[in-house]
Amino acid sequence: MADLALTLNEEQLTILKDAALDFALSHGLVVRPPSSTDDATGQQGGVINAPVTLFPTPFPSNAFNNAVRIQPLYNQLVHDISQDDAFLKEIMESLSTVDDFVKRLYDLYLEVKKEGIVQPASLGLHRSDYIIHLNPGQDFSEAEIKQVELNTISVSFGSLSSLTGDLHRYLYATTGYFSDKIDISALPSSDSIESIASGLASAHKHYGSKTAKVMMVVQPGERNAFDQRWIEYNLLNKHGVVLIRKTLAEIADQGRLDPKTKALFIGDQEVSVAYYRSAYATTDYPTEKEWDGRLLAERSLAIKCPTIAYQLVGAKKVQQVLAASGQLERFVKDPVMVAQLRASFTGLYPLDDSSEGLAAYEAALKNSDELVMKPQREGGGNNIYGKDIQEALKTLTAEQRNAYILMDIIRPPITKNVLLRKGQLQRADVVSELGVYGIYLHDGHKVIRNDNGGHLLRTKGVESNEGGVAAGFAVIDSLLLV
Ligand code: ADP
Ligand code: MG
Ligand code: MG
Repeated sequence: MADLALTLNEEQLTILKDAALDFALSHGLVVRPPSSTDDATGQQGGVINAPVTLFPTPFPSNAFNNAVRIQPLYNQLVHDISQDDAFLKEIMESLSTVDDFVKRLYDLYLEVKKEGIVQPASLGLHRSDYIIHLNPGQDFSEAEIKQVELNTISVSFGSLSSLTGDLHRYLYATTGYFSDKIDISALPSSDSIESIASGLASAHKHYGSKTAKVMMVVQPGERNAFDQRWIEYNLLNKHGVVLIRKTLAEIADQGRLDPKTKALFIGDQEVSVAYYRSAYATTDYPTEKEWDGRLLAERSLAIKCPTIAYQLVGAKKVQQVLAASGQLERFVKDPVMVAQLRASFTGLYPLDDSSEGLAAYEAALKNSDELVMKPQREGGGNNIYGKDIQEALKTLTAEQRNAYILMDIIRPPITKNVLLRKGQLQRADVVSELGVYGIYLHDGHKVIRNDNGGHLLRTKGVESNEGGVAAGFAVIDSLLLV
């Protein structure tokens, strides 16, 4: 495939582009245009194609199968960590002095816990992200997955990922431009468009009220609303469950708790599941009102996706602590599972006042070319790379450094593709990041569901450090298994 993007001429690419654009627009593989452009259509019903590649990207099937295989282990791990108050306390207290946002979330967690958690069930719709790593001399097919991060809140692109796979299979079937080169079975479809809705449906059913509705907690003016709408449509069409969309501010304004049961009502609608597609970034809480909305939902009987504890477990600091020797073993007793999980870790280092933290700090001051420095933030665009790390480290006090972790840069093999953004083609040298979705429902006593939920491939130009699609760096892709 890598060669294919090179061998096709401009005329053939234009044919592919036109076919791809029509497919995207007619199948809801779309986003709202950025409001910063003069395109007023955003408010008037206009959309643009979601940024995608024209071709699926080669990915080693062993690495893919491995990522799928360990997802249920990660789902279980998130839950088990979320139940360990002492472990969370130690990490969150160390962050609380240097990170106001983490402190606020942790305080909320403590407040709700003190009051008494009325809903014992938790729903996780996670996504574990990986970049593949090749050791010197290794063949592409032997590449291994290395985890970038584990997302536990507001994971996106489940719907647009499935649709991008459909797009690539459609182009394959109709244009004949790459049919002699690949086998259709090498283009695995992702059922993430259905699986996320099915996770919400399971939680809704567990809640046990026929008249209640699932509430998606959304950002005002969300550009990626169509990825979300497909979940709503699947939930309705396949499960007969209605989903309502509310911002944190609207929850504060319109919400109340039943004094006896603590059931959450928005107006006169009871909420079975509070599904967050917001509430993960500082910008989601511009005023105290948004925090009030969050607190109201957290105190309620609604099943949270995720619980605030799951959200905290998704912190990069937790990922770094787990990578330290002996820590994973606290939560995973089976040594085979420990080995499988640990094999997916790359180098992770603290920046605290431990001897490891000081050693990592000293080493980074000397050479930071192969490192990325990460704060406890989500949503892309927050990391520090290469030489900038040294500048950043010099401006921070020893205490402030603890708000960050260091991680080895994972350098995947480079391939060639053609990106389709806002109707325009761009040939590019690219690298990709695999995401694997996990569905997990626990009733407080036992696991109800622990499943795979499909996958996502995001692809970006090699020159870009960051990989977020919403942040404008990456495009949505699909897998060509090799
Ligand atoms: P966020 O929660 O903001 O998405 P990530 O840890 O996923 O934070 O980092 C954002 C992006 O930065 C990733 O999608 C990836 O492109 C890049 N990145 C992060 N960590 C690494 C790493 N260790 N090696 C290579 N690239 C990385
Ligand atoms: Mg993240
Ligand atoms: Mg990420």
